[in-house]
Amino acid sequence: MTAARCSATARTGDQCGKPAIPGGATCRVHGGAAPQVVAAAARRIATAAVRAEAEALLGQLGLEPVDDPVSEIGRLAAAALATYEAAAARVNALDGIRFTDAKGSEQLRAEVAVMERAMDRAGRLLDMQAKHQAQREGDPDGAVERAVAGLIALGDSARARNEAA
Ligand SMILES: [Zn+2]
Repeated sequence: MTAARCSATARTGDQCGKPAIPGGATCRVHGGAAPQVVAAAARRIATAAVRAEAEALLGQLGLEPVDDPVSEIGRLAAAALATYEAAAARVNALDGIRFTDAKGSEQLRAEVAVMERAMDRAGRLLDMQAKHQAQREGDPDGAVERAVAGLIALGDSARARNEAA
């Protein structure tokens, strides 16, 4: 992530131009100190780091784009799962999934939000893929649907565990 300049307009009418907070678009004077802005910036940094790790994982798996829509959905699901794996590894390495911010309020680590979003995305994509596949080939035993339901339940239980922690 390159060091951006504050995009806010200063009183003079010119762009502020001071260094923006890491992962943010404005400096501390122009909203960059607000807790929700700090949290969003942290999430952006964590997302970028996780995405880079996920791309490395995908590279190792040697996945390539294809024309077939069902396979394409599968590829996206694989990307989402790789993102989930990369984020989960970071979450596992954290001392705790929550921290106390400068104002004394408890915050969920950005990595946890990234992990949960990736899990949701993977679940939705796999559900979509299962439906397409079932339509195309017929799924008399509902095996694909059951596998997806299991995966979604896994995501739900992971979330419940995080919320309880
Ligand atoms: Zn500024």
